Amino acid sequence: MNSVRMSTGLEQWRDGDLVTITFCVTQECNFACTYCYMVGKNNNHIMNYEMAKQIVDFVLNNEFLKTMPAVAWDFIGGEPLLEMELIDKICDYIVLKMYSLNHPWFKHYRFTFSTNGSLYGSELVRQYINKHKGHVYFGRKR
Ligand code: SF4
Repeated sequence: MNSVRMSTGLEQWRDGDLVTITFCVTQECNFACTYCYMVGKNNNHIMNYEMAKQIVDFVLNNEFLKTMPAVAWDFIGGEPLLEMELIDKICDYIVLKMYSLNHPWFKHYRFTFSTNGSLYGSELVRQYINKHKGHVYFGRKR
């Protein structure tokens, strides 16, 4: 049985000596918490894949950021796991770009999520976790 390694907190990884790049992939959520910070939830605002690629290119070609020892590519929403296909494409692009640029972060990266956890069991999420084993960390929303 595959296990999901839960986040130990970014501050405990590399003593917090890292860059965090956050993608807000959707404003939609399958929960309706009364205290939600995302006002006006909707499924009209989903991150565009081409925009995500431009962000990745910009970050990976930035000479100053390159001096940082590690990176957390962070996905939030709304509920980010609703956009698993998009996130999977973005992560594939990130890994490919880091490899092709021989970027120092290729050996020092995480994909992190702030999620309500309701979709852990979905096939798409399970496939994604298997593909990126050892690099995926989930944090629970509070
Ligand atoms: S799970 Fe998070 S995004 Fe969704 S309604 Fe609750 S607080 Fe808002």
